[in-house]
Amino acid sequence: MPEMERKPYETVPAGGKAWSIEDNGVRALLFEGEKTALLVDTGFGAGGSLKAVTEQLTDRPVTVVNTHADPDHTGCNAEFGTVLMHPAEFSAYHARKPGMPVAPLWEGDVIDLGGRSFEVIHIPGHTPGSIALLDRANRLLLAGDSVSRAPIFMFGEGRSLLAHRESMRKLLGMEDAFDICWAAHGPMEVEKEQIRRLIEAAGMIIDGKVEGKEPPMPIPAKEYAWSGAAFFCSATQL
Ligand SMILES: [Zn+2]
Repeated sequence: MPEMERKPYETVPAGGKAWSIEDNGVRALLFEGEKTALLVDTGFGAGGSLKAVTEQLTDRPVTVVNTHADPDHTGCNAEFGTVLMHPAEFSAYHARKPGMPVAPLWEGDVIDLGGRSFEVIHIPGHTPGSIALLDRANRLLLAGDSVSRAPIFMFGEGRSLLAHRESMRKLLGMEDAFDICWAAHGPMEVEKEQIRRLIEAAGMIIDGKVEGKEPPMPIPAKEYAWSGAAFFCSATQL
């Protein structure tokens, strides 16, 4: 099979000292503080060196956090040494990448870059150790794959639509702390109203009120969409 054609990384300024780095349908996010920089996720890793890109944008030492351990978020981890993720991701991560150095990030941990900080919120569902990062000063929530206008992958081991709905309720309980979410797939800026839509859609799907449609790619799941929110689920998991 011919190798899939991949676009090179595209770097998009995201206001202040922040950039999105687009990697063929997934994005990494880079933030520069006074002392250190934070890279949230590392793409597929098929587009060459991501570190070469971050080094053009910041000269601060870069801390890498993975919102979760799926391959499209951890592709360039090896370039950055020890990366941080929630421990509930360790086993899935090491099953694919044995021996890769990781350090734990827990609910409530704060990543302080100097003048800018991000608080860890554990939001299991899409994966057991999915996290969001809350920048309270800038009223911004980095939600990884968990708050998105693109369909959310919810089939396969360790994923749970019920858990995701609980996590969305948790975020809703904190909505006074942020104005906007940034997503890893689809449009970057996602209004926080999407959290309500995801809760509503999950409820309708769990109650069997949404018909699954054939997905646009060959995956063992169906697409369930309701009122602007969508999930890929396997019928056996509902
Ligand atoms: Zn993803």
